Amino acid sequence: MRIANLAGRLIVDNGSGFVDAHDASDRRFAADPQAVYGRWGEFFDWAAGASLGAGVEIELDRLGPPVPRPRQVFAVALNYAEHAAEGGFSKPDRPLIFTKFPSCLAGPVVDVALATPFVDWEVELVAVIGHRAERIAAAEAWDHVAGLMIGQDLSARDVQQAGPAPQYSLGKSFPAFGPTGPWVVTTDAPGLTGELELECRRNGERVQHDLTSSMIFSVSELIAYISAVCPLLPGDLLFTGTPSGVGSRRDPPIYLQAGDELVSRITGIGEIRQTFRDAGPSRPLTPTDGSAR
Ligand code: ZN
Repeated sequence: MRIANLAGRLIVDNGSGFVDAHDASDRRFAADPQAVYGRWGEFFDWAAGASLGAGVEIELDRLGPPVPRPRQVFAVALNYAEHAAEGGFSKPDRPLIFTKFPSCLAGPVVDVALATPFVDWEVELVAVIGHRAERIAAAEAWDHVAGLMIGQDLSARDVQQAGPAPQYSLGKSFPAFGPTGPWVVTTDAPGLTGELELECRRNGERVQHDLTSSMIFSVSELIAYISAVCPLLPGDLLFTGTPSGVGSRRDPPIYLQAGDELVSRITGIGEIRQTFRDAGPSRPLTPTDGSAR
């Protein structure tokens, strides 16, 4: 089953095309795509069993972020061994968790303003939490996941590296730095919770390609680890880390330019696509720019 966000309304496809969930359920479920995670079990049972009739296929560029307003967005640094190695880091012995602030989320096909000259790509598998997960074991983790989607963890490396120690969250949270979608594929889809292939192409050239089995910490291990500290709430997102092949670790480094196109694909889910444009004049990103007194 796929669920998506069309112009701020929840749409669902249980095999014969997308229909409006609010209308098809006789208004039992809210139109708001975020609200469904508050009633995930009930919604899933209805949608999986309902005869929704013939729906339509939707153009990707009409879709918004499938999960538009999560309360928490978790992300993981250095979760593929080759990516850790290309950055000169040893393999972490525990997950390195940070956040992307939710205001950075965008739909699957968007224009992204290049906030700095050092914006880099990171294709990632994104898990969507369906049921509250608090201090759970890895073996139970998938029971708490509603589904999976594709994400780009766009990253301004200059902001990330400013200061004496790297800090991930702010440089990865400019507007539209979290494109997601194109839809949430629910975890009952055959093979979805097994090995998936992911790739990212920049202007047609494949720059990242790996299997989710190369993750150092699996989706379930990440959920178990995070949930020992923070309860994961329905509708939260987990960006699960990126494979090797990011631009900043190339020699010479490559950063996204105005006019570039990124296409990110994961088997069993689909693809998302961004084009990049100049941001225009911006305020300097310094602690004090002289305007505050
Ligand atoms: Zn990342």
